[in-house]
Amino acid sequence: MRRYSIQTKIVLPFMLLFAVVAIVFPLVAVEIFAWKYDEQFTRETEGWVDTIMKTGYFKQEPEKIKSAYGVEIMIFGSDYTLNGTTLDAFSDVGQDWTNLAEKMRLREVKLHLENPDGKSVIRDVTLNGKPYKVFYLPLNLGRFYCLLRPMEAIAEAKRTLTWYMLSIAVLVTGLVALISHLIGRNLTNPIKVLVDSTTRVATGNLDEQCNIKTHDEIGDLAAAFNQMTRDLKQSRDQLIQAERLATAGKMSASFAHEIRNPLSSMRMLAQMLMQKPEMAVEKHQQSLRYILEEIKQIDTIVKGLMDFARPTALNLRQQPLSLVLQAVLALMAANLEHHKIQLELDVSPETPEVQFDSDKLKQAFMNVVLNAMEAMPQGGVLKVSTIVDEDRVGIKVVDNGVGISAEDLAHLFEPFFTKKTRGTGLGLANVKRILEEHGGNVKIESTLGEGTEVSLWLPLSVVRN
Ligand code: ADP
Ligand code: MG
Repeated sequence: MRRYSIQTKIVLPFMLLFAVVAIVFPLVAVEIFAWKYDEQFTRETEGWVDTIMKTGYFKQEPEKIKSAYGVEIMIFGSDYTLNGTTLDAFSDVGQDWTNLAEKMRLREVKLHLENPDGKSVIRDVTLNGKPYKVFYLPLNLGRFYCLLRPMEAIAEAKRTLTWYMLSIAVLVTGLVALISHLIGRNLTNPIKVLVDSTTRVATGNLDEQCNIKTHDEIGDLAAAFNQMTRDLKQSRDQLIQAERLATAGKMSASFAHEIRNPLSSMRMLAQMLMQKPEMAVEKHQQSLRYILEEIKQIDTIVKGLMDFARPTALNLRQQPLSLVLQAVLALMAANLEHHKIQLELDVSPETPEVQFDSDKLKQAFMNVVLNAMEAMPQGGVLKVSTIVDEDRVGIKVVDNGVGISAEDLAHLFEPFFTKKTRGTGLGLANVKRILEEHGGNVKIESTLGEGTEVSLWLPLSVVRN
């Protein structure tokens, strides 16, 4: 089926309607004008005919009447032969008289005159290509007296008028077509842009944003479309991330499992070696301490991997957040002091209780505090507070440490992303997972060289996944 654009569908019907009205209206107007004029013309001529008859002028030279009234005269005999005329074209001999009678509609008029109805007999005829209005008057002995008024000037005026009116109609129709084309284009252009954007999104380009700024329904549609594309992109990214995490999780689980046993044997053997008398030399003791330290580091990584790979069920309880803060900060107090970090704690008594797994949240909060501590190697201020929003509560941890670059911010939650020589890169991945298991989320804002703000949000009503 043939496709018509919206613009065509809007513009075409109105254009056709307008064109019909614009053309028909002047034609009808000209016709009415001509008709009225004809009536007036006839009345006037009837007056003349009356005068001519009453005064007996018709008996005079037809040429005189012609010059007095500007009319032509034709006189026919009872056999329809032309007895006399003022018309030049008919004065030469050899005319086709029969044809002339036909053209002058004489037979038909004669019938009419035999049964007069009191009205004047008038016919429109064309002689030599020129239009005339003919007034027929019966004379004695069955002859006719015909008064012909030339109509050419009127026909010419009618033609000119029609021509003018049609020209104006065509001009106005063209103008209206142009204006409606512009209006239609104005309306449909944003739709075309939207369609192009949709096509690009359909081919998988989710970075596409449709640039329409009109303040109307199409503008609203474009805004909704852009929002939808952004959401789609976000959920696709999340899906890819989730898939990656799942794969990393599976790999980590088997990796951690394989490593744990040899690791504990190594630790045991190293500890046993340390007890041996021949290892009592300080040099050997130092080497063994290094070995044990390295084993401890590997063990931390393996534990992190196991946490990350094998999430255990949540043990939810309705409890105050402050429990978590106090427990972890008490554990960290000496460490913080050692690193010359001043702690500012601000727990609002208005913070509502919320459901969470206390061990897991402690683990998450601890990771965040450790990161903050490690970000302030020269010491600094660590602010910990509780935050309350409309339908969620949270813990905010702010440090004035090294901060995070915008580029790194995007990767913080990826497993194994670390900037530290002894880091595992699993801390924040675990924090995120724990909060998400609670139906909450993690927000990190940071300025390089100024510090970082980490918020752990929990919903007031727990959504179980
Ligand atoms: P790890 O601590 O083992 O490196 P994390 O997942 O805990 O792994 O953190 C990932 C990275 O994020 C860190 O290496 C660090 O570069 C950055 N980071 C996290 N928290 C902060 C912070 N408070 N200040 C500066 N950088 C941070
Ligand atoms: Mg960490």
